[in-house]
Amino acid sequence: MKRQRIAILGATGSIGRSTLDVIDRHPDRFEVVALTAHSHVEELASLAIRFGASYAAISDNRQSPKLRARLKAAGAATQVLSGADSLVQAATLPEVDTVMAAIVGGAGLASTLAAAKAGKKILLANKEALVMAGAVFMDAVSASGSVLLPIDSEHNAVFQCLPSSASLTIRGKGVRRILLTGSGGPFRTIPRSELCEVTPDQACAHPNWVMGRKISVDSATMMNKGLEIIEAHWLFGAPPEAIEVVVHPQSVIHSMVEYVDGSVVAQLGNPDMRTPIAQALAYPDRIDAGVSPLDLFSVSKLTFERPDPIRFPALSLAQSALGTGGSAPALLNAANEIAVDAFLQGRLTFLDITRVIEKTLDAIPSRPVATLEDVFEADRLGRQYASRCLTELTTGAK
Ligand code: NAD
Ligand code: MG
Repeated sequence: MKRQRIAILGATGSIGRSTLDVIDRHPDRFEVVALTAHSHVEELASLAIRFGASYAAISDNRQSPKLRARLKAAGAATQVLSGADSLVQAATLPEVDTVMAAIVGGAGLASTLAAAKAGKKILLANKEALVMAGAVFMDAVSASGSVLLPIDSEHNAVFQCLPSSASLTIRGKGVRRILLTGSGGPFRTIPRSELCEVTPDQACAHPNWVMGRKISVDSATMMNKGLEIIEAHWLFGAPPEAIEVVVHPQSVIHSMVEYVDGSVVAQLGNPDMRTPIAQALAYPDRIDAGVSPLDLFSVSKLTFERPDPIRFPALSLAQSALGTGGSAPALLNAANEIAVDAFLQGRLTFLDITRVIEKTLDAIPSRPVATLEDVFEADRLGRQYASRCLTELTTGAK
């Protein structure tokens, strides 16, 4: 069998490491061609050496001499790419078949889109890219004939619950609704009055999943589920009213598809990202992911709740941005990234995260989006306005 040649964008992150863990179990199937990281030189160098990568790309230019020195000292033949362009280079290398898009946030958009334009098979974890540039991205995928497979556990579950077909769309498949499950995060039962006190470490202590810090905070505000509604809209061509969020604290059902005949098809498993990663890497085959079998007897109970709109205003902010369309989702994402970053640095309270997003969406009108430049302009405006809100909120100015 010809090995699948893989580039991992964001190799040092939580998804990147889980991807390498799966690949490591199947050296006969997969070959690591390129790995990228933002600034973690030591880890990038050791991964490149260990997996025999032909390229290692570091987006923070200042780190490239260190990366070169480290690889040279180990006698590795790995070529170093550096700077912001190196991500696009890694994503479009002719010797790469499959790109795992696992950079966090808008920083991953240009390279993920470049992979789509180059017709690569894309394993999409970087949901922010799709939230920001949904139409532009999906157009690029269909123009190049790229194969797009979702890694986000909910979307991967929906994909597994749909009949197999060349395209991800739900159209013509008898689907009534997509039911996106979410755990409700670490603050599902904490009174809202106590939420202004919570710390970044408490927000990042997710009850069921181990993830990077940004997505962990998104899970705590439930903006993650909001972003996932927008992600599901673009991936599956689902109208907003056909996407429902179901709070399911056990994180065993990863999402469901309801059909017009009344059937509801669900995908279950232990909460471990290696399952969707392995499913997408090997698709349509199945391979061992190193994930222990689901023990239904010890799970015992599966429960479901409606999301609480007062506790989780992020959900309706995302729904309304999707309804508005144009640049609104890019503004939402930009404001969220600024606010989450400020919260993680201890400069903003937890409850102010959604306030910053709401103020930004109220202040900046949505514009039509036709090109990547339009998306970047919305992103720039959203970040600029949200940063101003931070200053106002933290100094108490009006
Ligand atoms: P992480 O913070 O653990 O890792 C992020 C990776 O992106 C790192 O390799 C880092 O070097 C790289 N990176 C960060 N900023 C960068 C920049 N400015 N330029 C270039 N590279 C940069 O994040 P994660 O939890 O692995 O999440 C990655 C993506 O996958 C996110 O979009 C997230 O929403 C999505 N996702 C993650 C999980 C999960 O379980 N972790 C689940 C579903 C979806
Ligand atoms: Mg998810």
